Amino acid sequence: MSEIKIVRTTAPKEKPQDETKLGFGAITTDHMFVMDYTEGKGWHDPRIVPYAPIALDPFAKCLHYGQEVFEGLKGYRGDNGQILLFRPDENFKRINRSDERMCIPRLDESLCLEGLKKLVELDKEWVPHAPGTSLYIRPFVIATEPKLGTDSSKNYLFMIVLSPSGAYYPQGFNPVKIYVETKYVRAVRGGMGEAKTGGNYACSLKGQEIAHEQGYSQVLWLDGVEQKYIEEVGAMNVFFVIDDEVVTPMLTGSILPGITRKSCIELLKSWGYQVSERRISVDELLAAGKEGRLKEAFGSGTAAVISPIGELKIDEHVLPLSGGKIGPISQKLYDQLTGIQWGRIPGPAGWSVKVCD
Ligand SMILES: *Cc1c(COP(=O)(O)O)cnc(C)c1O
Repeated sequence: MSEIKIVRTTAPKEKPQDETKLGFGAITTDHMFVMDYTEGKGWHDPRIVPYAPIALDPFAKCLHYGQEVFEGLKGYRGDNGQILLFRPDENFKRINRSDERMCIPRLDESLCLEGLKKLVELDKEWVPHAPGTSLYIRPFVIATEPKLGTDSSKNYLFMIVLSPSGAYYPQGFNPVKIYVETKYVRAVRGGMGEAKTGGNYACSLKGQEIAHEQGYSQVLWLDGVEQKYIEEVGAMNVFFVIDDEVVTPMLTGSILPGITRKSCIELLKSWGYQVSERRISVDELLAAGKEGRLKEAFGSGTAAVISPIGELKIDEHVLPLSGGKIGPISQKLYDQLTGIQWGRIPGPAGWSVKVCD
């Protein structure tokens, strides 16, 4: 295995004083992890260096054709000060699945995880202390070959950058209003919806803007073929509780396979709930809503963990949910997952990974 070289900064930056004003993804730390890929040579020179802008040739392929993938996870500061990660091996497995789809060479998952742990340990003072705050971790790969041809790149850059981030629910765990987009779509059958890649976000911006204009915080996307079946919300997967069944859309290739989604399914099953991964149509939701059988809805993702849905807008229909309150299953999953993430509750083996004390 390649040795990871470490070059420490000689000019550490000032850390944010007010942890209630961290926001999301705006502050950089002192170091970053970098590794290069060159055709014929493979991935090489894994290193941790002082955080700095990178030089990129204006012809670099990622700038023109969107050949890139990314991941998102968090570092949590436990009660005894130890730094914890949540199922980080799953993120590196997923980046390789995204790589496969985007014709990017596979990464060595254990080397990436080792690099991530070393980086977080080096920058551990940047993991904020206030309740609900965390260190957001962003691994990514970009195509760097300076050539305007549209074939896949011969060179790549893999990086991990860190950002101390604020609590997602500074005013407390709260339901959100969701707008069901019935004109634009995010992903199509056979497209790249299941890859964590920037293009899926670029094509979501328009719908997001429309939802915001109407006072909704996020978009719920429908399938790109019939625009009939529920897929996912912005950067979250989605669950519905209909009667006694917990339903989430099955992974058909156009939905991002969330690690929080997978964790929710595993926890719910271990608690004895009936969980179905299946297709679920807007019509089924509307009917269940009218008949009073739709008990709860929530999104799942690294950023918010669980995001209870208080209202769904579908064309001219407005569907209130759980009386605008947090449903019991949403609350139970939120408590359990955040408990495991912050090291207060023991989780299944391998879910909580300690970086350092
Ligand atoms: C990252 C992401 C999610 C959530 O995945 P987690 O692993 O649970 O954070 C859901 N949808 C999209 C489009 C995403 O990019």
